[in-house]
This record gives sequence, C-alpha cells and structure tokens, in this order.
Amino acid sequence: MALSDHVDLNGFIEGVKRRNPGQPEFVQAVTEVAEDIFDFIQDKEQYHKYQILRRIAEPDRVISFRVVWEDDNNNIRVQRGYRVQNNNAIGPYKGGIRFHPTVTESVLKFLAFEQTFKNALTGLPMGGGKGGANFNPKGKSDHEVMRFCQSFMTELYRHVGQNIDVPAGDIGVGGREIGYMFGQYKRITNSFEGVLTGKGLEYGGSLIRTEATGYGAVYFLENMLTRVGNSVEGKRAIISGSGNVATHAAEKIVQLGGKVLTLSDSEGFIHDPEGIDQERIDWVKAHKTKRRGRIAEYADEFKSATFHAGERPWGVECDIAIPCATQNELNGREAETLVANGCIAVSEGANMPTDLEGAHVFKKAQILFAPGKAANAGGVAVSGLEMSQNSARISWKEAELQQLLKDIMSGIHERCAEHGGRAGSDHIDYVRGANIAGFKKVADAMLAYGVV
Ligand code: NDP
Repeated sequence: MALSDHVDLNGFIEGVKRRNPGQPEFVQAVTEVAEDIFDFIQDKEQYHKYQILRRIAEPDRVISFRVVWEDDNNNIRVQRGYRVQNNNAIGPYKGGIRFHPTVTESVLKFLAFEQTFKNALTGLPMGGGKGGANFNPKGKSDHEVMRFCQSFMTELYRHVGQNIDVPAGDIGVGGREIGYMFGQYKRITNSFEGVLTGKGLEYGGSLIRTEATGYGAVYFLENMLTRVGNSVEGKRAIISGSGNVATHAAEKIVQLGGKVLTLSDSEGFIHDPEGIDQERIDWVKAHKTKRRGRIAEYADEFKSATFHAGERPWGVECDIAIPCATQNELNGREAETLVANGCIAVSEGANMPTDLEGAHVFKKAQILFAPGKAANAGGVAVSGLEMSQNSARISWKEAELQQLLKDIMSGIHERCAEHGGRAGSDHIDYVRGANIAGFKKVADAMLAYGVV
C-alpha cells in the first residue's frame, strides 16, 4: 500500500470527531497524541496497515451503569457509573476511579486513552482504563459515601478482577472510598484479591502509594532540570489543587529546597509569599481530608496568605509551575503569562491540565514541559508495584519503594528524552517523546496479536 493511500492527520481527526460527537475532551486528547504519532509513523508501514492508532483510539469497551443509593434523608438518588476499558495489549486494564459532578463519558474516555500511554511508559505490564461517576462526595456524610461506593461496586465487580481490570483512586476517590469499594467486592465475590490499588496498609495496600503521584511529578521535574544543569533548589513553585497530588508535590518541592507559593481548589487559590512549608502542608492535608475543608480557610489560619476567589494561580510570578487539579485548568493565555513571567519548567501532576493552545505555547517557547502522562505516572507505577506485592503476598519496605519510584521516574524521563529529541537541537520535546515511547510499546504488542 502506498503511503499516499493513508488518511492524513486532518482526515483522521475529522473521523475521530465524527465517531465521538459531543466528546470534546476525548477528541482533544486523541488530537494531541495523533499530531506526534502521525509524524513518527510516516515511514512505518506496519502501523498504518494494521490501523494501530485508530484501534487505540477506539476503547475495547465502555461500560455504563445505573447507581442507585439512599441519602441520609431517605431520598432515593440515581447516578451514572462508568468503566472505560481502553486497551489491554500489555497488561490488565488499570486506571483510577473519579467521583466528581463533571464526570462524563468523554472525560473518562480521554483519561482511559491517556492512561494507556502512561502505563506503557512506566515499563510495567499494565493496560489502560478509567472509571467513575457523576457523584459529588463533597458535603456527603460518611454513610452516604459508603452506600454510594457499595452500590457502585455492586455493578462494577462483574467487570474487574486482579487479572482483568484493577482500578485505583482519582479525584474524589481516596483511601476511604477504596476501602468501601474493596469491602463490597470481597463481600460479593468472597475473594480476597488485589482488585483495587490504593488500599489501606492493613489490607494489602503499598507504602508510598499516597505520595507517589505528587513525588513522582517532582522527580520528573528534577530529572528535566538536572539534564540542563539546573535543580529545584531555591526555585519558586506555583501549584494548583490542594488534594492528594498537589499536597505531595508541594511536600517534595519543599524537601528539595524549593519554595511553594500557591495552592487552590475549585473556588479559588491562596498565595502565601512566605512559602507553604511542611507544617502548613500538613495543615492543608488534615484540613482537606479529615475536616473536608476548603482552601480559602488557609488565609484565615495563616495571615501571610491571601485568597483569590474564582481565580487560578498562573499569574503569580514563579520559576516552576505544577498544575495538580484537573483537566484544562491552564489555557493559552495563562501559558503565555507564565512564559512572560520567566517560568522555566512545567510538570503536569494532573491529567491534561494544559489545554491544546497552552501546550502549543510551551512547545513554541521551548521551556521544559512534562505532560501528565509522563510526569504523573508515579502513582500508577506504585499501583503496579502494589499489584506485584499482592500477587506475591508480600510487602516491600518504604526505602525500597522510594528507590523504585525514583528509578521508574528516571526511566520514564529517559524514554521521553530518547524519542523527544530532534537532530541539531539540544531541546527535548517531552510531549512528543512521551507520546511516541508510549505508543510504540503498545503498538508493537498489538502487532504481535494480529487483527483482534
Ligand atoms: P483530589 O480529589 O485529591 O484533589 C483534586 C483537587 O483538584 C482538589 O483541590 C479539587 O478542588 C481540585 N479540582 C477538582 N476539580 C476541579 C475543577 N473542575 N476546577 C478546579 N479545581 C478542581 O484528586 P487528586 O489529587 O488525586 O487528582 C488531581 C489530578 O491528578 C487529577 O487530574 C487526576 O486525574 C490526576 N492524577 C491523580 C493520581 C492519583 O494518584 N491520585 C494519579 C495520576 C493523575 P475541589 O475540592 O474544590 O474540587
């Protein structure tokens, strides 16, 4: 087949849009990857002939189901649950569960697609999936959350298993929710197995899983800086979000001698020019998890800080930015502000926090820009290690796991650097590197299986 017979990039994107109407996040994620992959596969006939990219961009299956539960006032509530199983070419489906009112099929399809590349980048045998529900845990009692989780798992259990699909936490799903879901799975199936990761240490969880995503995003950042003879030490960092990923990214920045100036939530951001040190990070962690509080209250507690309602932190001058809240929280205009203010590196703790326009701004400015699928892979990597520990029925020590996480993040950095360079330039395009390295591994496994 002559290469001219193949559909071009625009034709491919048009096809994705046509087949996925009303799914902008999914189309955005596929477009970002396709821009790099089309260039890479231009002279690679096998990938064209076997329609590999088209197949990865069509989930293996999308499961959608009703979740009924009863609130504390005896009202019957109906929510929609999903599991998107995108691709299991290199291992069981793996990816988090998100409980948030913004959850839609499009959001979960984009996340499952991204997860496929991310998991491949870790070097561990994990396919890509994602799930969730349009349930808002905010303001719900513990018992309401428990009843919702149990109802959610009462359907999900049919589709998951330690060798089939192993979900984890994500936005709105932390240790509490994983505990309720694991308990229900065990109760229904009468099987104690590693069907979920992010479990409590008492029942098969792994040390450092909680810290892994945020720490990993900063290790990746440190790898990028080291390559150009720089480091985190002495740098001013702005961070968005104030959940699991944000607080642990902040902690690692502080440990490496940097200064954290901001944190945020969906209501606004706090700016603390004195720096958010370990004591203040601990306060935020307790405030958000134990008291389920809002970030605005930080400014009441610490007088050096100001709260900026309804705003995002990207206008604060910094050397480093780490978006750790949600998708599309940093747009083209904000990216331009960051570059103009002298920001030298962006490491995405969240999934696709920078929109397409913003990503193009960073690429053009040639700053160090780590996409989420590479930078935030530390969480799923330690989830992979939790699966290994569960299978072998052992628990590794913290020091061992910390070292493994560091090594895995360095390995991901190397894989991105290998594929993200261009002849005649010292600059690494980490987005391109991550897309190609992740694609190649999954694609080669798919070729081995033939047409299935
Ligand atoms: P959490 O639920 O712990 O925290 C999420 C934070 O982001 C909260 O501060 C939340 O504020 C804020 N946020 C959520 N939605 C929005 C929104 N629409 N606008 C503004 N702020 C918002 O989640 P995680 O920290 O676990 O996840 C954060 C990101 O990291 C997500 O993109 C997730 O997919 C990604 N990620 C997480 C991993 C993990 O291991 N947990 C692994 C890899 C990626 P509020 O409380 O107001 O909603």
